[in-house]
Amino acid sequence: MIDFCILGSGIAGSTIANLLSKKYSVHLFDKARGPGGRSSNKKFKNNLIFDHGVQYISPKSELFSKYIKKLYKNKILKIWENNHLDFTYEKKPISNKFIGTKANNDLVKYNLKGIKKSFTSPISKIYFNNYFWEITLKDNSTHQFKFLILTCPFPQLKKLAKNYLDKKILKLKVNMEPNITVMVAFKNQKELPISSIKFDDDILAWAANENSKKRFRSNINLWTLQATLKWSKKKINKYKIDKSVMNQLIKRFIKLTGIEKNKLIFKKIHGWKYSYNYKKTPYLSLWNKKYNLGVCGDWLNGPKVENAWLSANDLAKKIK
Ligand SMILES: Cc1cc2nc3c(=O)[nH]c(=O)nc-3n(C[C@H](O)[C@H](O)[C@H](O)COP(=O)(O)OP(=O)(O)OC[C@H]3O[C@@H](n4cnc5c(N)ncnc54)[C@H](O)[C@@H]3O)c2cc1C
Repeated sequence: MIDFCILGSGIAGSTIANLLSKKYSVHLFDKARGPGGRSSNKKFKNNLIFDHGVQYISPKSELFSKYIKKLYKNKILKIWENNHLDFTYEKKPISNKFIGTKANNDLVKYNLKGIKKSFTSPISKIYFNNYFWEITLKDNSTHQFKFLILTCPFPQLKKLAKNYLDKKILKLKVNMEPNITVMVAFKNQKELPISSIKFDDDILAWAANENSKKRFRSNINLWTLQATLKWSKKKINKYKIDKSVMNQLIKRFIKLTGIEKNKLIFKKIHGWKYSYNYKKTPYLSLWNKKYNLGVCGDWLNGPKVENAWLSANDLAKKIK
């Protein structure tokens, strides 16, 4: 029997899988088609490629900075140079913006090298029979493991594992905020000396120029647009049926930047229902010895890649 079942191939799942694989056998499952979770990368026809979740990593803690430096040295990550414009004029310390050399799921791919993994494999049921875990996938196949690690956002965790979580965990007030993201491409564009724009606007919060990440050369300009929190909250339950949500965000981008409207050749919307939890819980990770069950993920201690990574490291320490 394989030791660990790991649910989720995001930063937390891939990190804990990597750490545990040094000592135990692991098998990771993700419901998505590829690795990365909220740090995944979207590829469309004609080589249109977008980081539609995580945009960059700016490490803060000593431990995480050391890890990021190692990945930078190994050319898994690079620095996102050029002009990052901020029209909110918020005072923030200037720090390096690290991105994947090929895509922003490079970090996850690096973690998962050599690890047994299954994609398009949603775990729909978990059951502990006092000796081992039995997990059921959506196709009704069942798999047995000694230990189980869950890294999905809190609302999904509560649904799947409510019979195995302490009452005080089930009662936690975790508010995972949504985000609406739109990916757009404009033809016949010159290379722009702008990498990202932070807007002072009620609809559009941020735009990232994918070309400026220098992973490809093209006269098609790719932008990833992120809506403001307030607007995302209003639209998250409507965007799938209401096309005007996507068009409104694009219209605002065109208005604020002056990009020619008739050059637009591609648009796609993605709604992140559970994108950030801004408020920390009292826990960095959870380890339940009675059930051989571990939980980690960014939702426990903050809204960034760094928080997910620290959570996974904390859990690995508890297990050892
Ligand atoms: C739009 C957006 C922009 C962001 N930008 C930044 C940024 O610039 N910098 C930064 O540091 N952070 C950013 N973040 C936050 C960052 O993405 C997260 O903090 C981090 O990626 C969370 O990683 P995680 O492993 O905890 O969770 P996730 O990445 O959400 O991983 C959970 C995984 O579990 C899988 N899963 C869920 N349920 C099941 C199931 N039943 N069966 C199987 N698999 C399942 C999911 O498919 C997913 O892959 C951004 C987030 C969003 C949404």
